[in-house]
Amino acid sequence: MPCSNSSAEMTRRELLALAAAPLGEPGILVHEHVLVDFTGAGRYDAGEVFRLAKPRLEEVARLGCRRFQDCTPAFLGRDPRLLARLADATGIEIWTNTGIYGAANQRYVPAFARAASAAELAAGWVKEARTGVAGVRPRFIKIGVNRGPLDELDRKLVRAAALASRETGLAIASHTGNGAAALEQLAILAEERVAAEKFVWVHAQSERDHAIHAQAGRAGAWVEFDGIAPKTADWHLECVRFMAAGGLLGRTLISQDSGWYHVGEPGGGDFRGYAYLYTGFLPRLDAAWRRALLWDNPRRAFGA
Ligand SMILES: [Zn+2]
Repeated sequence: MPCSNSSAEMTRRELLALAAAPLGEPGILVHEHVLVDFTGAGRYDAGEVFRLAKPRLEEVARLGCRRFQDCTPAFLGRDPRLLARLADATGIEIWTNTGIYGAANQRYVPAFARAASAAELAAGWVKEARTGVAGVRPRFIKIGVNRGPLDELDRKLVRAAALASRETGLAIASHTGNGAAALEQLAILAEERVAAEKFVWVHAQSERDHAIHAQAGRAGAWVEFDGIAPKTADWHLECVRFMAAGGLLGRTLISQDSGWYHVGEPGGGDFRGYAYLYTGFLPRLDAAWRRALLWDNPRRAFGA
């Protein structure tokens, strides 16, 4: 189309820009996945993942999502180059992470990490945070631990995360087996003089005892209810309402832990999208809580 400076054309352009802008209020999804490789083999067609993920991200961009935090750790399919391509193509800011996932009985912990000290692991994560991975700087630390009481390897991963957080200021999102494991991690952070505010208790919805949610929130940790889906929404609503009733909405995060391209399955298997939180869950929440849950809390927990 030829360039024109007429006021009519400007108006048309403005209308087009408006139509392309997100319709919903701005939001951040703190815990989702584009790709997960539980095979651990690292063999997949990045072009195919790109083609399948792009429309899902575009859909949620239209609903207002501005930032998407990809929680797939290294050795489980973390692919910063692919995430950067998707960010460019969709206009959504996409964050990746550094760290090691010890959950799933530590089967994704590489041999070098078993032998390394907490300080050595932390040094590697700090280096990634500072110099980037494939040109992308990780913006948070993602670890995973099993149910409490934590064994030595899990405790080492938490200590490494604490050291790396102290060095970089990055938040620690930890896939956590249960409430006991969450409290144990907070104790390790305290030993390392890292504030509880730096800790995000990932998968807090799998702990059924609200008293532990309250305890972690009162201690200053972020309590993340992140498996939101049509079948689980009632429980997630109850969790959020419990936190709000206890004056802890300001320590609450929500997300879907959705996606993703399943490496090793034909066509990536069942790639769930990211829209439900906006279209199904938020309308059921008190409207006064939306800004905190969608925007303010994610920024306070993870940074701007
Ligand atoms: Zn996840």
